[in-house]
Amino acid sequence: MDAYVPGFQPPDITSWIKLNTNENSYPPSPKVVEAILAELGTDGARLHTYPSASSQELREAASRVYGFDPSWIIMANGSDEVLNNLIRAFVSEGEEIGYVHPSYSYYSTLAAIQGARVRTFALKEDFRIADFPERYSGKLFFLTTPNAPLGPAFPIEYIKELAQRCSGVLVLDETYADFAEGNALELVRSCENVVITRSLSKSYALAGMRLGLAIARPEVIAALDKIRDHYNLDRLAQAACVAALNDQPYLKNMCRTICTTREWFTSQLRLIGYDVMPSQGNYVFATPPDRNGRRVYEALFEQKILVRHFSDPILVHGLRISIGTPEEMKATLTAITEIG
Ligand SMILES: *Cc1c(COP(=O)(O)O)cnc(C)c1O
Repeated sequence: MDAYVPGFQPPDITSWIKLNTNENSYPPSPKVVEAILAELGTDGARLHTYPSASSQELREAASRVYGFDPSWIIMANGSDEVLNNLIRAFVSEGEEIGYVHPSYSYYSTLAAIQGARVRTFALKEDFRIADFPERYSGKLFFLTTPNAPLGPAFPIEYIKELAQRCSGVLVLDETYADFAEGNALELVRSCENVVITRSLSKSYALAGMRLGLAIARPEVIAALDKIRDHYNLDRLAQAACVAALNDQPYLKNMCRTICTTREWFTSQLRLIGYDVMPSQGNYVFATPPDRNGRRVYEALFEQKILVRHFSDPILVHGLRISIGTPEEMKATLTAITEIG
């Protein structure tokens, strides 16, 4: 099998403008730092005991944020962990998972580990899935919404229709939903085969803590609970998670700022002839006028500005650029303008 290749993390990270892995350029809530330090104490005296196995406090905090009973929520060591466990719980060797191409290719790596088959579906011009069967019989279908790397989200009515056409589980990877105008949380209640995954990596600026979660019916959560590592979240991550979830004003303010910057950056790129897809995430997919994404990627790299270029033929013409601070985006725009 092929390994998943994460975005490049330069060793001298502070000398780069790093816009290649959709991390948040802002720090997390100060309350997160306080909570981690409090958990650590002066002598790290709590670290010799195991963390909570149930992550109960986190699930209660998540329950207040998302409006679901804690029995509908499972916490994960990054949403990647719960994506993996969804496949482990629902898919046996030789069975099928599906997802949209382009989206998050890690689904395919996770499927390969379990010996599952993978079927990908293209997107049409109208941003609907091409040739989606009237009845899709794969065990799991992953829908990344908002779509990464392209940016648009799928309308709720369309997602509902997909849920009805899936005989297995429809997993909505809502990693970027905090930057979007809406989300599909209501479908977890109304459709019994819908699971939603969320991440604290991007919107909460906690990629380094590895925190994610899934929301689904209690019987699905119970199945996921059985197969996870019992101490999947360490003490510091648990403390950080509760503090982050409890500081909603900080999250909302940061997301609002990033969305404003995204709209500004999008309009500026369009003024210099770039084709930019309307995005609901903290990134844009932008195509230079000569449709040579690699050329612009390399010229930016020379200037220590790191964006994401995919060699995949359907993405090779463009760049995925994460939305950082206004200063970072101004510098990036200036560099792009000079590169021409
Ligand atoms: C970043 C990302 C993830 C992984 O999130 P973690 O919580 O950091 O594991 C999952 N899905 C998509 C679409 C992502 O972009």
